Amino acid sequence: MSKIHNFSAGPAILPSSAIEASIEALKDFAGTGLSLIEISHRSKEYEAVVAEATQLVKDLLKVGDNYEVVFLQGGASLQFDMVPMNFLNDGQKAAYLNTGVWAKRAIKEAGFFGQVEVVASSEDKNYSYIPKGYSIPNDAAYFHCTSNNTIYGTEMFEYPQTNVPIVCDMSSDIFSRPIDASKFAMIYAGAQKNMGPAGATLAVIRKDFLATIKRKIPTMLDYRIHIENGSMYNTPSVFAIFVTMHTLRWIKSIGLEAMESRNKEKADLLYAEIDRNPLFKGTVNVEDRSRMNVNFVLNDPSLEEEFFKLCKSHNLSGLKGHRSVGGLRASLYNALEIESVQALVNAMQAFEKIKS
Ligand SMILES: *Cc1c(COP(=O)(O)O)cnc(C)c1O
Repeated sequence: MSKIHNFSAGPAILPSSAIEASIEALKDFAGTGLSLIEISHRSKEYEAVVAEATQLVKDLLKVGDNYEVVFLQGGASLQFDMVPMNFLNDGQKAAYLNTGVWAKRAIKEAGFFGQVEVVASSEDKNYSYIPKGYSIPNDAAYFHCTSNNTIYGTEMFEYPQTNVPIVCDMSSDIFSRPIDASKFAMIYAGAQKNMGPAGATLAVIRKDFLATIKRKIPTMLDYRIHIENGSMYNTPSVFAIFVTMHTLRWIKSIGLEAMESRNKEKADLLYAEIDRNPLFKGTVNVEDRSRMNVNFVLNDPSLEEEFFKLCKSHNLSGLKGHRSVGGLRASLYNALEIESVQALVNAMQAFEKIKS
């Protein structure tokens, strides 16, 4: 079988080491003679997986004991509810940055729990840029932003200077580069973009921020319960955390500095071709271009179907833009090799030859 280049936006490409380890563990997990998905999550072999995954997150983010790391379920979307339910106390307001569909969904959910102030929005230009120079009210319970806008292909490379706790949805660029985690009161991410399969959600929360919880929270939605129970208050997403742990091992073996160079090189290669090739154009503000999700269109949209056919014949998969925006989107997550980006560039150049 020839290699398929996987540009899917999520669930997305994972390192082959994680896939191989999963296949093995589905047959015989850690020498138990039983499958990973048919043993107790409280077995010592599985508890070691959760412990290692938790430690790998701490190592990669370089956070100390003033942060809690927990694996949850319900996707990043449930975090849109859990964050305000836990941290937006009665009578308070929360500040939100509206940079896309996911941010907007987070804003909508926060509205169920308290007052929401949208401090800036890029909706006026179809989310093609990251707003800058806005101010955050000092009395906000927290400021919520989305580091990478998966659907539109914009990414935040700088964060506002503020004393307000920053909560960031990093679902689609977590571990793609080093970050200063100490700037954030909370980071969360659904695993399936850059960290593992669907079913696990990571939350990293600073202890002083956790201490601001005042409202009575239903048990399953209370961060403190999941933290106190080491991500095992109830049955965790056993398989998803296992694959995530192996993906984190692989990320650590490369290192976040090297990962950033790889990701930058891949993105530069593709954006350079988009800018050079007269058939294509990028759709977002150049300085806000995401390294994870590259959005572009054909200058003549009537050629789109033909280009998709060519992509298919070049073994390029997952390039259709999100159903809400159309066009093309190439997701270049950590595990995607530069050879795959080169294969896409080759297809774009082949298309240029056909059309000239
Ligand atoms: C995909 C995505 C989500 C939604 O994640 P689910 O796990 O499907 O709930 C939220 N935020 C961002 C930035 C995403 O990319």
